[in-house]
Amino acid sequence: MITSKTQLVGLFGHPVSHSQSPMMHNAAFAQMGLGFAYVAFDVDPADLEDAVRGIRALGLKGINVTIPHKVAIMPMLDEIDPLAKRIGAVNTVVINDGRLIGYNTDGMGYVRSLVEETGIVLDQQIVTMVGAGGAARAVAFTLAEKGVKEIRIMNRSRERAQILAEHVGTIVPTKIVEQGDGMDAIADSSLLINTTSIGMLPNVQEMPVPPEWLHNKLTVSDLIYNPLETRLLGEARAIGATVHSGVGMFVNQGALAFELWTGQEAPTEIMREIVLQQLKKTT
Ligand code: NAP
Repeated sequence: MITSKTQLVGLFGHPVSHSQSPMMHNAAFAQMGLGFAYVAFDVDPADLEDAVRGIRALGLKGINVTIPHKVAIMPMLDEIDPLAKRIGAVNTVVINDGRLIGYNTDGMGYVRSLVEETGIVLDQQIVTMVGAGGAARAVAFTLAEKGVKEIRIMNRSRERAQILAEHVGTIVPTKIVEQGDGMDAIADSSLLINTTSIGMLPNVQEMPVPPEWLHNKLTVSDLIYNPLETRLLGEARAIGATVHSGVGMFVNQGALAFELWTGQEAPTEIMREIVLQQLKKTT
């Protein structure tokens, strides 16, 4: 129930009408009996600065930030957590004594779900990652900080791969994989991650790598959660590889934001259930 004591959190994005976050967070607050409410705000890029001033003026407890504001909001904050600084994007803001502090929970959310769902040991992983965009940056920096053995980056635009490889390479051995060398790179990798949108609805027949490059010693992870099982994961499952979908990342990035705002452990099972229910309705 919303009362005069309700603490407001929300999402800044453009557009936001498709977002699963309000239902997921409001279900979590209700489950925990917390006096919080989560609202999605469609913030036009031209209005971002005013919206950020509004956070303080209205006394919001925190916000999530999504496309297209994850980078643009950074100079408007008072402090940025070191991991978010490295990633170069913020997806969660906490308001503490009027100070706006930016975090990035995407990478930690990804790694938490990967380890929980597959049981892999991070420091034994040779990782091949397809893609070098925003989500790839969050995943690569967090895996590097968690001590994976090596990261190999394959991307359509070489320049973006190069920039990411240079940055991540200061933490763990990192190399760029040319398109023609993808099969060899994957052959002795233990973890393959698709961080591109290839295979996302409606293009569900597309794959970021050909099926014959997969093998059964791989853990194959796809950041996409729409569809719940991409063709990449379906092909990987069929040959006996371990598979991991993007739902866990979405739930856990939200759970970590919930924990930053409330100081309490998030009810991740109910959050996952709500997201799965919504996705099944839309896919
Ligand atoms: P982004 O910054 O726009 O990056 C997109 C990446 O995909 C780039 O590396 C791009 O290559 C590559 N790409 C896109 N279309 C391609 C194509 N047709 N052929 C080859 N490469 C292509 O996007 P993002 O924010 O990183 O998101 C990427 C994916 O992650 C999306 O599917 C998104 O839904 C998913 N995601 C999931 C979660 C989650 O919680 N599970 C969170 C964030 C993102 P170029 O550099 O060459 O353009």
